[in-house]
Amino acid sequence: MRVLLDETELNDGVHRLADEIDQFYGSRHPLTVIAVMTGSLVLFADLIRRLSMPQRVGVVQASSYRGGTVSGELHVDSQMMIDVAGKDVLLVDDIFDTGRTLDRLKTMMFEECGASSIKTAVLLHKQRAHCVELRPDFVAFEIPDEFVVGYGLDYLDMYRNLPYLAVLEPDEIAATAAEQQR
Ligand code: 5GP
Ligand code: MG
Repeated sequence: MRVLLDETELNDGVHRLADEIDQFYGSRHPLTVIAVMTGSLVLFADLIRRLSMPQRVGVVQASSYRGGTVSGELHVDSQMMIDVAGKDVLLVDDIFDTGRTLDRLKTMMFEECGASSIKTAVLLHKQRAHCVELRPDFVAFEIPDEFVVGYGLDYLDMYRNLPYLAVLEPDEIAATAAEQQR
């Protein structure tokens, strides 16, 4: 696997992200911070401990890859969501690829859940043509349009635990799929 961002770079990036968010909201502004599971798991744990404002913390489940490496149909499960009505919400996801996930979740938080404001933060922003007008408000890294794993991002639920971010090449994708079938 080709390492794209090592532990130190990720750490610095999350620091910068937290600083930007802190500066935007200020350290006394209560924030409802929502993790888009499962990919943001590792980022989220690191990020919320670096933010200085009082926080309410919750999760929402969204999955679009369903075992492939190309964005597919989006499934959202908000059963675990906390109440966001009248709150300032920060949605945290691992990566902005087509943009459909955060676009859909943002609409849902506004229209169905009555949030008063919504911003989005991502670790990674893929340089490719996005499918929506929405752009993330806070971004730690711009990356090329390649399939990446590690630091929370998976392929077939593998590799989330890697402390670095790596590109999973086509032969490695095939090998992982074959391994999982056994
Ligand atoms: P979008 O809805 O923006 O197309 O995709 C967002 C979701 O797709 C992310 O939350 C992430 O779970 C998944 N995704 C997009 N690109 C990648 C990638 O390069 N690697 C992995 N592991 N997941 C990705
Ligand atoms: Mg995701």
